[in-house]
Amino acid sequence: MKEQQPAIQVDDLTVAYNYKPVLWDIDLTVPEGVLMAIVGPNGAGKSTLIKAILGIIDPIAGSVAIYGKPYKEQRKLVGYVPQKGSVDWDFPTTAVDVVLMGTYGKLGWIKRPGKKEKKEALEALEKVGMLSFKNRQISQLSGGQQQRVFLARALVQDAAIYFMDEPFQGVDATTEIAIINILKELRKAGKTVVVVHHDLQTVPEYFDWVTFLNVKKIATGPVKDIFNDDNLTKTYGINYKVAINK
Ligand code: ADP
Repeated sequence: MKEQQPAIQVDDLTVAYNYKPVLWDIDLTVPEGVLMAIVGPNGAGKSTLIKAILGIIDPIAGSVAIYGKPYKEQRKLVGYVPQKGSVDWDFPTTAVDVVLMGTYGKLGWIKRPGKKEKKEALEALEKVGMLSFKNRQISQLSGGQQQRVFLARALVQDAAIYFMDEPFQGVDATTEIAIINILKELRKAGKTVVVVHHDLQTVPEYFDWVTFLNVKKIATGPVKDIFNDDNLTKTYGINYKVAINK
């Protein structure tokens, strides 16, 4: 049954801050198993769209379904890697503990993470190149390193849909390649991955699906069909070649 539903269905979604709409009447269907970039200029509402889908922000109109049901009922299917530096860590917790938090959903309230979960957490830290920082306080890691720890947490969560808000922001080239390889691995495993992405040049190489957003949805679909001059110009309001060489 799950296969027949789109992974994400957004209908007539409008979101406003202080009565000013920042997302206007968005309809969006994301099929299962795509690696999708959300692109658009600063302030286009990309982060807000993810937050609205995850129920972090209440829309003034519209609805969101994850495999046909409200997010609240599908929490366990969803992993979220927030924007770098957007989480304040004012309590002491180590990198490996943050990753272990990702296993709580599977364990339920009563069981505590055991050997198996610890092993998974360490493997995930290794995948993102952070194993040697496992006992470091999360507050004492750089923003890019924190981002990688969040990615490891999402991996152990074993979700069906992943949302990542600019995972490549401010990371070095090696980390970028490591992250994109993990995202491609997730897609191979049949997961759906939605990424807020800034670098237009890498869209065709990294992603197979794309959504153009600028308060309104401009276009959504396969990169090979819709990643073109016309949609880039509609979204950025400037010539495609200028946008891509930015
Ligand atoms: P993007 O991710 O595309 O850069 P955002 O979703 O972060 O855009 O923001 C969309 C618009 O909403 C921007 O104009 C931004 O200034 C505004 N905005 C974002 N968060 C808030 C907030 N908490 N309160 C008021 N306005 C906000």
